Amino acid sequence: MQAQRADATARATTRHSFLTHLECTACGATYGADELHTVCPACGKVLYARYDLAGAAAAMTREALAARPFTLWRYHEVLPVRDIIRQLVSQADETLKRAPALVETTRAAKDKA
Ligand SMILES: [Zn+2]
Repeated sequence: MQAQRADATARATTRHSFLTHLECTACGATYGADELHTVCPACGKVLYARYDLAGAAAAMTREALAARPFTLWRYHEVLPVRDIIRQLVSQADETLKRAPALVETTRAAKDKA
């Protein structure tokens, strides 16, 4: 039991989310946690996000939660975002892709003024 808890604690310190996979609410099909799906590709029904709840419980101690800011990310262990860095880089990249269009729009607005 103690070894199990130590293992869960070690995992808790290295993982951001304990999302393990997606599972269809209707047909039970499972999909990888890193696959992007809005609904079950097999039947079109809703997908559950499934977690390693023992690992999340080990990470989400009263002390750990009390030390975190009151934001959505306070509960990151049970959010369906496994790789937050990749998500943030992707969002930043998308913003940068739009930057030239924003510059062009600003220029056009200035030219009209
Ligand atoms: Zn399904």
